[in-house]
Amino acid sequence: MKSVSIFGATGSVGQSAVDLIARAPASYDVIALTGGRNIAQLAADAVRLNAKLAVTCHSELFNDLKALLAGTGVEVAAGDLAITEAAHRPADWTLSAIIGAAGLMPSFTALSHGRTLALANKESLVTAGPLLMQAAKDHRATILPVDSEHSAVFQALVGEDMAAVERVIITASGGAFRDWPMADLANATLAQASSHPNWDMGQRITIDSASMFNKGMELIETKEFFGVDPSMIEVLVHRESLVHALVGFNDGALMAHIGPPDMRHAIGYALHWPQRAELPVERLDLAKIGQLSFEAPDPARYPALGIAADVMQIGGLAGAVFNAAKERALDQFIAGQIRFVDMAGVVSRVIDTMLARDGLQNARITLDTVLEIDALARVRADEALHELG
Ligand code: NAD
Ligand code: MG
Repeated sequence: MKSVSIFGATGSVGQSAVDLIARAPASYDVIALTGGRNIAQLAADAVRLNAKLAVTCHSELFNDLKALLAGTGVEVAAGDLAITEAAHRPADWTLSAIIGAAGLMPSFTALSHGRTLALANKESLVTAGPLLMQAAKDHRATILPVDSEHSAVFQALVGEDMAAVERVIITASGGAFRDWPMADLANATLAQASSHPNWDMGQRITIDSASMFNKGMELIETKEFFGVDPSMIEVLVHRESLVHALVGFNDGALMAHIGPPDMRHAIGYALHWPQRAELPVERLDLAKIGQLSFEAPDPARYPALGIAADVMQIGGLAGAVFNAAKERALDQFIAGQIRFVDMAGVVSRVIDTMLARDGLQNARITLDTVLEIDALARVRADEALHELG
């Protein structure tokens, strides 16, 4: 029996994990499930999976969640601190699948107890990569990547020597606007940006796929997790989203990971690692698929990639600034305050301003400095909005 906790259980990744666990309830002891506003889903899953604890991050929803779970024996808690407290509770396997910088605390807490962390929350590595990797080392914890590209790279590296790796290539679908005339991008609506050609994901990451801010985050995630030089990491546009990543070796070989666009693969791989186990995902018929296509990303269409490349070069707290500014720019686009194409402008303006004024490069990366710079970058992003307007 494996004890598991899922942070962000009501989200897109979280629900895929719940699905896998619900298929084999006798194999899992569910310690904690956390969610946000969708407390009906959280309560239903807590009962279905016989969870010990259900937590919503919204303290004002405590009584409602308590009422939903009355008489079930599931313990109820609410608020950000309750989420962190849940991460302190022992579990063999912790899935970090909250969206945004709020995922950092549970990730860090699980690692500080030497746990096995299945990491979907890429923001943890983008904002505080060196801190997390060091915590994993210090506490002999294990981090297993759950982003599909990083799970693919991780799998392609099994049994390999990192010294033989020349390049790491992560693929991108190109997102909702890959075929749009550039001139039309200025008028892209929220609804248009919220639809993905291949993957069914939460709204925020779907919009980040259209802008490739998601891929920019994944470049940084690759650098931090695998410890490779930024010059070795490439992005390849692959419309079919079947090849998730490739690793290039010094003998010219490329190891590609191919699979259906279904997060249950990456989650399931991390759940059963180091073994493989049968998973309920589609088996690909490559003869029927016929062709796979690859193209270089257009830097003018996807300025987020260039910004992320700069952020990797700057290092230090630049990742935390990049993430926070991106989160605010996305909030602004979702609220209708800026256009789709303005998000990149907001983010690069924040980075430029903060590089000049706030000393990102040589700052020490601690939980405190990351949270502090994150808050400051959000303020700077709101200032940038006013300057734009
Ligand atoms: P989502 O928006 O569908 O779900 C987010 C979850 O986090 C929900 O349970 C929500 O209640 C919770 N949450 C939101 N804000 C919170 C806060 N402030 N405090 C505590 N909990 C909060 O997101 P998602 O698409 O499942 O993505 C989750 C993470 O996984 C992200 O970091 C994303 O980049 C990464 N990821 C997602 C996919 C995908 O297929 N959706 C693929 C790869 C990586
Ligand atoms: Mg991904």
